[in-house]
Amino acid sequence: MSESPVPALNNKKSTVLRARRLQKRYDDNIVLQHIDLDIVEGEVLCLIGPSGSGKSTLLRLLATLESPDSGVVFFHDTPLGIVERGGNLYTAPEKIIRQQRDRIGFVFQQFNLFPHLTVLQNVMLAPRLQGQRGKAEDKARALLERVGLAHKADAWPASLSGGQQQRVAIARALARDPALILFDEPTSALDPELVNEVLAVMTDLAATGITMVVATHEMQFARRVASNVAFLDKGHIVEYGSPQQVLDAPQQPRTRAFLQQIS
Ligand code: ADP
Ligand code: MG
Repeated sequence: MSESPVPALNNKKSTVLRARRLQKRYDDNIVLQHIDLDIVEGEVLCLIGPSGSGKSTLLRLLATLESPDSGVVFFHDTPLGIVERGGNLYTAPEKIIRQQRDRIGFVFQQFNLFPHLTVLQNVMLAPRLQGQRGKAEDKARALLERVGLAHKADAWPASLSGGQQQRVAIARALARDPALILFDEPTSALDPELVNEVLAVMTDLAATGITMVVATHEMQFARRVASNVAFLDKGHIVEYGSPQQVLDAPQQPRTRAFLQQIS
């Protein structure tokens, strides 16, 4: 019997990220438990759930910004941690793990741009752009164009609105040629009138087939853009399915209570 509501875990080649039995605790506080997830190419997975339910922790584990206490994250078929193979413990070579990690983009709630670098320099910092100078600048400018900020290339982050800063952060994530981008409540720190410009950029990205995992409280965005929605509560994925299933016809009382609270 599975303790996970995530159905039909697959072994298709197109699975970009695979989490198996992730568990994470901070001291005595078990923050994530029994997390199984498959994220396939082109999918947009929205993570919803109350504050403290474990969304950010899960994203950090998926990005390997932190390690789980047990369980493992696979990027394509590479374990980004220790697994058992044929009775032996196995971990991929550090160089391979680093290469794979470099293909995971992360967009934070607080933008995290480098204040002492211009917008263009922030985007050019991406690991994938290192060592290819002329090209790096062309590419960074093209990415700024893509998020509607080509005219701000030489500006300092502090001179931009929050929405513009977050769009720069998205351009910076794209500069990695990411296989997927993880977003941690990318619009939560924004004034309400700036939320839509960021969601519009994210909607465009989704339409071009970029694989995304998005922790968000923007239910309209989840309804329109998500392929799947996972509802987290107290460190568990309580409910998982299409936005229609989870948001419009939730089966679990905890999902219903949460959705009622925020509507
Ligand atoms: P969410 O993003 O859904 O609000 P988090 O993943 O931030 O949830 O937090 C889940 C739980 O883990 C919370 O109880 C939080 O206090 C705890 N937590 C998160 N990060 C840390 C940390 N670095 N040290 C200790 N506790 C943490
Ligand atoms: Mg969070």
